[in-house]
Amino acid sequence: MKPRILIVEDEPGIADTLQYALRTDGFEPQWVSTGEAALASVREQAPALVILDVGLPDASGFEVFKRLREASDVPVVFLTARSDEIDRVVGLELGADDYVAKPFSPRELVARVRSILRRAAKPAATVASAASTTAAAAPAPLVVDEGRRQIRFYGTLLELSRYEFGLLQTLASRPGHVYSRDALLERVWGATTESMDRTVDAHVKTVRAKLKLVAPGLEPIRTHRGSGYCLAEDLPATL
Ligand code: CA
Repeated sequence: MKPRILIVEDEPGIADTLQYALRTDGFEPQWVSTGEAALASVREQAPALVILDVGLPDASGFEVFKRLREASDVPVVFLTARSDEIDRVVGLELGADDYVAKPFSPRELVARVRSILRRAAKPAATVASAASTTAAAAPAPLVVDEGRRQIRFYGTLLELSRYEFGLLQTLASRPGHVYSRDALLERVWGATTESMDRTVDAHVKTVRAKLKLVAPGLEPIRTHRGSGYCLAEDLPATL
């Protein structure tokens, strides 16, 4: 059965392009042009994924997203037209799975959809590694529990979004190793595209703020100008 993708977009030209690209790639697109129609459609039958325009005629995509989340945890990709919308998607930590800035390449968006669905399909893989993580739980500044998707920093449980978790987990897997932005995009987001070049920096910023709440005097994530980020190797064992 083909995965059904709900497109919520009021511009017919964009919707047509998207429908064509999705159909070509083996998906079953469905198009609605208002937030109300989107919510009604999801209530009736949940799609595999929702592509949600931020600027809709009857409500903002953010509002639609919030109401959608009350009923369903279907993956959502935002379509944004302006950079302040991108800032809101990233900054508010809405819990959306991704965003794409207009104008976008339909092929790139479809590739993104495919990668999100692939990730959503295999939660069992992370549970399997929980035992080994727990067994190796020596006292350390950062303790990653992959099974529970939790990270403790000096014993304090961090409240992390999905991508913040992925980011910190990746950095913590090799302290001292500098990961480039592209490498982080690849590992954490499963994609590398120009439209996401601010994504890593924005997430590093929010993760840093959360670490700072626990340990105000430390700088666990180091920036290597021009090359990327790494987790400090010289964090004190205790605070
Ligand atoms: Ca629009």
